[in-house]
Amino acid sequence: MANASKRLDTNIEGNFFVDSTCIDCDTCRQLAPTTFIEDSDYSAVFHQPESPKEEFAAYQALLACPVGSIGTIKKNSNVYSQAQTSFPLPIEDDVHYVGFNSEKSYGAHSYFITHPNGNWLIDSPRYLKHLVQAFEERGGIRYIFLSHKDDIAEAARYAKTFSAARIIHQADVSAMPDSEWVIDGEEPAQVEAEFRCIPVPGHTAGCMALQYKNRFLFSGDHLWWDRDLQQLGTPENLVWNHAQLERSVRKLLKYSFEWVLPGHGERIHLSYSKMKTAVERLIRRRWP
Ligand code: SF4
Repeated sequence: MANASKRLDTNIEGNFFVDSTCIDCDTCRQLAPTTFIEDSDYSAVFHQPESPKEEFAAYQALLACPVGSIGTIKKNSNVYSQAQTSFPLPIEDDVHYVGFNSEKSYGAHSYFITHPNGNWLIDSPRYLKHLVQAFEERGGIRYIFLSHKDDIAEAARYAKTFSAARIIHQADVSAMPDSEWVIDGEEPAQVEAEFRCIPVPGHTAGCMALQYKNRFLFSGDHLWWDRDLQQLGTPENLVWNHAQLERSVRKLLKYSFEWVLPGHGERIHLSYSKMKTAVERLIRRRWP
């Protein structure tokens, strides 16, 4: 719950505000870019919502914030409730952004795929009653894909509730030792016809990406869209092994995808050819 006494001076006057507990995860700026902006390593409200659409997005950001740093002076309960039940948010086809990012995963995004052979949760949001209900209404969860050890959050609780199989790489399995499906080595593993787990060690030894339908790449902390550069990014700090990271980025040139859906950073949709060019450009920039 945000605290008005900790309201940052960088917020504009008005109903919505960010307090000093913000961890600068960027979630609110992605969900409500006309309301929130980055300022001095925090988010701040630079424009109070005016239209119903802007207010709705600001409440979605308030709900998704992993540390409860966004508050209102006067809560609009109707819009708050509507925003709460709007998650998981459709992205494209059967792919959704879950919301309710968890502080336990440093505010990383998680995703949900509804699929006739069983639904997938990609990394973990907070464990919340209304989110459990939302998953139940959509047919539960069959698999939980864990991109790496940092973003497991409350995967164990979701696995228990839905009898879901957690998929993790051997090199990061210490974070979730009782996982049902452990992938080893660097070869990709086909789980279902349309799902391929691709080991991409670098940020951690056990990083994996999930390729779905040859269109979507759930990339964890391995790859993301850098809004400032308008290019793909990959970790520069917090890298377990730089040589492995380079190999893992180059490896992605073998795979087709037109979406990058990361844990941190922005998601991006490009044509297949533009995505390949973006990966090549990243490689030239990082390893000239
Ligand atoms: S979502 Fe919350 S923690 Fe993340 S940048 Fe916004 S206010 Fe800060």
